Amino acid sequence: MATVVVVGAGVTGLVTAIGCARAGHRVTVLDRGPVPNPASTSSDQHRVLRVLRPDDVDGTLRMAEARRRWLELEVLLRTRIFRPVGVVTAGTPDELGQALDTAGQAGVSATVVPPDALPPVVFPAGNRGVRDPGAGVLLADRFLRAAAEWLAAHPAVVLRPGRVVVAVEDHGVTLADGTVVSADLVLVAAGPWATELTGPPVVLYRQTMVYLSPPRHLADWWASAPGVGRIGADRRAWLLPPGGGTLLKISSDAVCRVVASTVDTDREPWADRLLAEPILTDAADYTVVAVRDCHYATDPGTGGPVLTRVHPSVWSRPACGGSGFGTAPLVAKEILGAVMEVSA
Ligand SMILES: Cc1cc2nc3c(=O)[nH]c(=O)nc-3n(C[C@H](O)[C@H](O)[C@H](O)COP(=O)(O)OP(=O)(O)OC[C@H]3O[C@@H](n4cnc5c(N)ncnc54)[C@H](O)[C@@H]3O)c2cc1C
Repeated sequence: MATVVVVGAGVTGLVTAIGCARAGHRVTVLDRGPVPNPASTSSDQHRVLRVLRPDDVDGTLRMAEARRRWLELEVLLRTRIFRPVGVVTAGTPDELGQALDTAGQAGVSATVVPPDALPPVVFPAGNRGVRDPGAGVLLADRFLRAAAEWLAAHPAVVLRPGRVVVAVEDHGVTLADGTVVSADLVLVAAGPWATELTGPPVVLYRQTMVYLSPPRHLADWWASAPGVGRIGADRRAWLLPPGGGTLLKISSDAVCRVVASTVDTDREPWADRLLAEPILTDAADYTVVAVRDCHYATDPGTGGPVLTRVHPSVWSRPACGGSGFGTAPLVAKEILGAVMEVSA
């Protein structure tokens, strides 16, 4: 049995803590806010889980594994956290061909969908859609609450909200009040703030999302609609359907910008820009319910996620990329492998 300290009670920290506790290790979860923390970047109504990576067979296989692990978590937590509604991604005939080829090589399903199968959505001219039926919507806040409850009830887990970690050393962390918490293995899962504790440098992005309520006459259609990607004027927009207590959410990389910190000093009309994108047919029929900014970090070189070992006993996840929620179970698997090594 090993002792594990997890810094950060977002999706990465909570999924890892569950994996370690289930494997028989003692786990302490530290967060500077409550657990779960509504200020974490994981906290939101929903996040998408895509299985098909149109040009990446290995990536598709990894995401199929992530999906299996999410379904296991759903059983463990006895809470519905995954809506298997699929995702349709717009593409040119060449892009669709490549996506179908990748799906075939990875052994996952994918089908072509004509734009008129999704009448409330504006497809780019000349594009059709490829449907990834294994994809779906993760009910993010619902998962975070259920995970925190499960961990709070587990005898080998200590949840410590309101603890600010100020330094990370091999085999331990130091809190703002000077307390040192020691462990055989430390995971720094502090989201876009992890880089301040462990490095390496990352690129920080802020993205605006708008939450909408569909008109009544389309409510039934949207209730079983898929997620849709690569729409909008420059094919950088996406939407997540309402359902399971969530609203319809739209966003676009066109309203994603590099920022210096998560502290908001931004006065640009990003939501207006997003709402001006051609994403929904009859967009004026929808009611804007909320607007929110969210942050994520990427590796400056690859533009992707980072999981790095910063000391022999310390792992850090300073960048999650745009798929950091869905891939959390894969990070947990890797950390559990490292915990097994130290406890062998
Ligand atoms: C607009 C947008 C859309 C996205 N869409 C998707 C999507 O559809 N699918 C997907 O898979 N991913 C998506 N992501 C990415 C995903 O949401 C994040 O990558 C993921 O939630 C990060 O989780 P985390 O647990 O690593 O970090 P967080 O959830 O940010 O958790 C970090 C925690 O660490 C705590 N913390 C920080 N510093 C300290 C400290 N010094 N001491 C103690 N505690 C500390 C914080 O309080 C926080 O609770 C999206 C991101 C954005 C911005």
